[in-house]
Amino acid sequence: MKVRFWGTRGSIPVSLTAPQIRRKLIAALSGSVGRSLDTSEAIERYVDEELGFDVRGTFGGHSSCVELDTGGAEHVVFDMGSGARPLGQSFLQRYGAGAPQTYHVFMSHVHWDHIMGFPFFAPVYIPGNRIVIHGCHAVLEEAFRRQQAAPSFPVDFSQLAATIEFDRLEPGKPHAIAGLAITPKLQRHEGDSYGYRVQAQGKSLVYTTDSEHKVGDVDERAAFIEFFRDADVVIFDAMYALADAISVKADWGHSSNIVGVELCQAARVRCLCMYHHEPAYDDQRIAQVLQETRRFEEITRDGHRLEVISAYDGLELDL
Ligand SMILES: [Zn+2]
Ligand SMILES: [Zn+2]
Repeated sequence: MKVRFWGTRGSIPVSLTAPQIRRKLIAALSGSVGRSLDTSEAIERYVDEELGFDVRGTFGGHSSCVELDTGGAEHVVFDMGSGARPLGQSFLQRYGAGAPQTYHVFMSHVHWDHIMGFPFFAPVYIPGNRIVIHGCHAVLEEAFRRQQAAPSFPVDFSQLAATIEFDRLEPGKPHAIAGLAITPKLQRHEGDSYGYRVQAQGKSLVYTTDSEHKVGDVDERAAFIEFFRDADVVIFDAMYALADAISVKADWGHSSNIVGVELCQAARVRCLCMYHHEPAYDDQRIAQVLQETRRFEEITRDGHRLEVISAYDGLELDL
């Protein structure tokens, strides 16, 4: 199975600006002075091996959208943030418009940054496609319909050509969908959010975003450790660096890098993937948070090595 990240930014999409790209170019060219970069291979090696990701890349601008490619006939997606637009294009390229597909979308919640990509997800306009939107919120369908209602959007939900179904899931129970065993879990967030634990083909993945963890709540902590237990990958809301999370941004409904490490260490998780990046953080800041988080994992390690990565649009993980 493969996990593909199409949108990794929290709260609102962001785009790189011309001054930011200029800074990256200047940093890259400054670092190349005195090197003999006279072949394309040498240039590629320099870019890939010598430059930091914050210079050669970007952590991405689209809001929450992650694809789980199971290799099966039915497709699995978590959240419909603005990353759903390039994901829809990718599905069209892979399967064409003439071959109807089934898509299962699992919604963490219906805040705007998690549904805004749906009207731009091209498969909704193609007759024969079946799109099942799964979630635990009573307002699931209403939220999707409302964002396309006049005067906010030119195409009403009722005009979409695909067959769209809503499936209300019960939290705390495994559901058998698209060849997966998938269990939703209630999380602390304004209006509630739900994380998902997926078991399939001997692997486990946890998608847990927009979730605040109260460090002192022992029962809650134990429940999340159980939910994360031995997972191969945990995609975790690490929107804030810890200092922000416990001071100014307490009760903003998000978590931090440090809480992510502590929970994943206790649960013996293989890889922590930080996700839902703060829109005010630039690439340098996110790279710095990643470095600090890896250092924190190292010095608090207790016989179990936890790999720590930071999600970006375009990242692909093998499960
Ligand atoms: Zn969000
Ligand atoms: Zn939210």
